[in-house]
Parts: sequence; structure tokens; C-alpha cells
Amino acid sequence: MTKLHVRGAVLAAAMTAVLGLAAAPAAIAEVAPFPALALPFKAGQQVYSAGIHSDDGSTGVKNAVDFSPADHTVRAPLAGTVHLQHCAGGDWVTIDHAGGWRTGYYHMEGIKVTDGEHVEAGAELGSTGNALPCGGSSTGAHVHFTLWTLPAGPAAANWDGKSFAEVSTAVAAAVGEPVDGKTIGGWRFTAGAEQYTGTATHLADDAVTQLPGHFRAKL
Ligand SMILES: [Zn+2]
Repeated sequence: MTKLHVRGAVLAAAMTAVLGLAAAPAAIAEVAPFPALALPFKAGQQVYSAGIHSDDGSTGVKNAVDFSPADHTVRAPLAGTVHLQHCAGGDWVTIDHAGGWRTGYYHMEGIKVTDGEHVEAGAELGSTGNALPCGGSSTGAHVHFTLWTLPAGPAAANWDGKSFAEVSTAVAAAVGEPVDGKTIGGWRFTAGAEQYTGTATHLADDAVTQLPGHFRAKL
């Protein structure tokens, strides 16, 4: 028993060193069902959405949707822990929610949250903008809102310094989650065949908005 324990401990230490997981919390065995997210802005206002698309807008899982709320203010759709993803050109925001879900907010300007901060639903994250901290492109102030799951836990998903091209390809392929079929703030989003298309259906009254398009984010 003693020998086995020692060998096990040595092996565990070696694995920890190789994987860099010394300070990592236990991995989440299973990702929870999609949580009850609000839209990432205050309800009751007019919003423009350019539709559902992949992170790079051309290939891969369509795990993103763009929003331009009238008040230009991006808010946490659910409580969680902020991770500022740092790049040479500045920062962008991800939030880790309970159950292994991560949401992302790209192109924001005037970021109001700090790395490691716990935010409640509705907390102001920043303003819609055209910021390109890790590359990419933007034509008109908006937030690029993205969904991922992190089955290996948030500590294994530090994307500091990763170009948005890499986040859009390798990261999206590994942990990107489709927006299609998700209900967010009482609206069900359905992807179209093409990039930057789809619909938003207000479930309370079955009102369907074609995307790209404007809708009023009812309460
Ligand atoms: Zn986008």
C-alpha cells in the first residue's frame, strides 16, 4: 500500500507539472444544462442584432450573436466570475457561470469590471464598441456575445494572449456551443443556414424577428 501511494503521488505530481494544473480546482465532470440567461443588456429597449454566426463569421460552430442595444450598455446575463482576457491591444471579457458555462463579450469599450470580480445578473460590464484587443474586425458598435462550455474547468481555459483568430478556430472547435435553439431572456434564437442570419422568437407571444433585424427586448 505504501509503495502504491508513493508511486501514485509521484505520478500525480508529474501529471500536475505536465498539465500545469497545480492550482486548478477540480474539473467539472459534466456541464450543466444551459442556464437561465437574461439577454446581455437591459430589457425593455430596442436592440439590433446582426444575427447568429461563428466567432470568425465564416466557418465553424455558430456560437455567437451580435447585439447593439439602444442604451449601448452591456450587462451580465447571469451571475458569475469575470475573467479579463488580456491581449496587446487591450482586454475583453468572459464570465464563468455555475455549471461549466462561459459567456464572452468582444468589442466592448469602457470595460467596467475587473479580473476575478464576481458579478450578479444585470451588472454593467461596459459599452458596445468596436474594440479589437486581440484582432478581428468590427463595423459598427456592438457586443459579440459568445457561448462556450468548459468541461475541464475555468482554470484550464485561460485565453490571455490568444488571438481572436485562435479563439475563433481552435477554441471554438473544442468548446464552442451553438446559439441555435438556446433561449436567452425569453427569446429563442434559431440559426439560419447562412452566417449572420436566423430568428429570435419571443416565446411569450410567438413573435418572430428575422435576423439581422431589430426587436424590442421585452421583459
Ligand atoms: Zn459577432
